[in-house]
Amino acid sequence: MAFSEEQTAMSAGGAATAVAPALEARDIHKSLPLAGNRIEILKGINLRVNKGEFVSIIGPSGSGKSTLLGIIAGLDNPTSGQVLIDGIDITRMGESQLAKVRNQKIGMVFQAFNLIPTLTAQENVEIPLYVGKHQGSASVRARELLELVGLGHRLGNRPTQLSGGEQQRVAVARALSTNPAIIIMDEPTGNLDQKNSDNVLQMIRDLRERTGTTFIIATHDPKVAASADRAIRIVDGLVANEIGEV
Ligand code: ADP
Ligand code: MG
Repeated sequence: MAFSEEQTAMSAGGAATAVAPALEARDIHKSLPLAGNRIEILKGINLRVNKGEFVSIIGPSGSGKSTLLGIIAGLDNPTSGQVLIDGIDITRMGESQLAKVRNQKIGMVFQAFNLIPTLTAQENVEIPLYVGKHQGSASVRARELLELVGLGHRLGNRPTQLSGGEQQRVAVARALSTNPAIIIMDEPTGNLDQKNSDNVLQMIRDLRERTGTTFIIATHDPKVAASADRAIRIVDGLVANEIGEV
């Protein structure tokens, strides 16, 4: 389906205006040295995610999901293979150019929230806006985003003064601050109880409807996986199958 959409774009506007996928991973391998040997964590992963799609990455613990997300977010290098964001190969970029692409195009949410403990919720959300050039007031934008995630009344709280669910919502607001095209989440509900998991999932659905952002979410949560347009199952460093492609 994705292919035929792209074909349509090509025939309508010529090859130069073909719509590049939001993200494409080509033959990603990752190996690491371990006790005098090398272990192969990723063994040739291929995937394409179109703009506005919500894709879940599922599969057993240790199958390579977090490693893959780190690579597609530009936080880690593959041993070989390419990652293209909006058709641009990020694996060949120097660190400063890559940092710019990460800041402008990608929002990342980690399972353990990774907020800065000495900063307030508002300051945590402002941080990415001080990196690179962003229009408008960082504090106004941070307040708007925290209101969007239902935390307008917690602007001045530090992470220790927030529940797990609230911290994760701050992390989502931070990932959204630069208005990135792609949001990558690594088990965003993995450390949350059922009620907070449901809240975070509802927020992802609302954001998608309102902003058309592309979401790539690794999850063990069946509700999160069921909300996605399709699921990609990773087993032992390879794509095992795709489920429910629309
Ligand atoms: P998942 O997120 O699917 O649980 P990971 O990507 O975290 O899987 O890990 C995949 C495999 O790679 C696991 O066997 C893990 O132990 C191994 N691994 C991950 N990071 C490292 C590392 N820095 N050094 C050695 N092994 C690692
Ligand atoms: Mg993981």
